[in-house]
Amino acid sequence: MRILIVGGGPAGLTFAACLLRHGIEPVIVEKAAHGRTGGYSIGLHVNGWRVAEKLGLVEAFREKAMPLGLAHHRDRHGRKLFSYDYRTLAEAADGRLLAIMRQDFQEVLTTAVQENCPIRYETTVISLEDDGSGVDVTFFDGSRDRFDLVVGADGYRSSVRALVFGPHETFLRPLGYRASAWRVRLTKPLGASFIGMMDVDHQGGLYTVGDGTAATLFCWRDERTDRLDPDARRAVLQQEFGHWPEPVASALTSAIDWDQSFFDTVSQIEVPRWSKGRIALLGDSAWCLTFLAGQGTSTAMAGAYILAAELARKGHVEALESYEARMRPLVTKMQAVSRNIGSHYIPQSTFGMRLQSWLLPIMLSRPLIRFTSSRLAAPPVAID
Ligand SMILES: Cc1cc2nc3c(=O)[nH]c(=O)nc-3n(C[C@H](O)[C@H](O)[C@H](O)COP(=O)(O)OP(=O)(O)OC[C@H]3O[C@@H](n4cnc5c(N)ncnc54)[C@H](O)[C@@H]3O)c2cc1C
Repeated sequence: MRILIVGGGPAGLTFAACLLRHGIEPVIVEKAAHGRTGGYSIGLHVNGWRVAEKLGLVEAFREKAMPLGLAHHRDRHGRKLFSYDYRTLAEAADGRLLAIMRQDFQEVLTTAVQENCPIRYETTVISLEDDGSGVDVTFFDGSRDRFDLVVGADGYRSSVRALVFGPHETFLRPLGYRASAWRVRLTKPLGASFIGMMDVDHQGGLYTVGDGTAATLFCWRDERTDRLDPDARRAVLQQEFGHWPEPVASALTSAIDWDQSFFDTVSQIEVPRWSKGRIALLGDSAWCLTFLAGQGTSTAMAGAYILAAELARKGHVEALESYEARMRPLVTKMQAVSRNIGSHYIPQSTFGMRLQSWLLPIMLSRPLIRFTSSRLAAPPVAID
């Protein structure tokens, strides 16, 4: 069986690694140039961890993991609000949790698959014709090929979804925020794993990467869903966060390479069915949870593992049905968790900010952390 994977992100690369274990031949097309990846940090949680264990990649991820330590939160004047310790979260997950820069994460997976899986960078698909017994694919450079199955792992703004399932807007559930994330070189160490600041309708901060750089993450209320071009983005960031003190002030004036960075609306993707004939969706293209749940990567990895296992055992019709039946409950739950987190994470009032400052350190303290995790973390999905 030959499978075309459109998108070489966390979902596509994990899917390729899982298919190779079953002796199935994947080909990846990735629109970006080699090495171009999002400059933000992602977390590996229970479902992703179990897939990483199956693929024998835990140690490789650990070697590139970011340091876990204290997180300090301040108000927009730089006054201390509260602190907690990421190591307590890791302990509650029995050590099966890590934070890693997305590009490091992808490097580990790329190294694992590239010998046996062709990855065609800087290309994409422009047409997909499913005649019932295979899919004829036309690529951006005009070349053509035929595959038994095509899997769209091309993210939130999926082209496969747009070509086969319908326009982007049809599947969009906007949560009412925009977010941006990029990487900055630090002039002095942050002195903590994370320095966060918040204000009504705003949340932002910097994560220590461990190599003299930091990963930023900013989120603010904005109901609009139009895309802003790179020239307009810095002005918006200045308008929303320009009056905040260090370390945010320096991050805002640093050089931002928008090819390597993230700036978009925060919206979930809801597709009633993740496959049509021999074309299927996986990861953010099928169910984008948004970064608010902190589980998008792990959920994509679990989906990749399950889809590959089903395809190894069954014909594509039955396999795609089983994949959907096994993944849908987890995705529905995590989309609800993500919406719920969003409404607290971005404080809607000064009272909301005070409440968060009072509640979060208690919820994330050692005596309560397991209870908190059970409410917010993804339940382990049966991957075997
Ligand atoms: C700021 C931020 C912070 C996050 N933090 C976390 C976190 O802490 N923990 C967590 O688990 N998740 C986090 N996430 C979510 C996580 O990044 C996503 O859920 C995950 O990356 C989904 O993987 P994916 O492969 O489905 O999609 P993507 O990561 O979007 O990858 C899609 C890939 O497809 C490529 N592509 C796109 N269009 C085409 C095309 N037409 N043709 C070919 N290739 C194409 C892209 O270049 C990309 O390589 C965060 C997301 C953001 C934006």
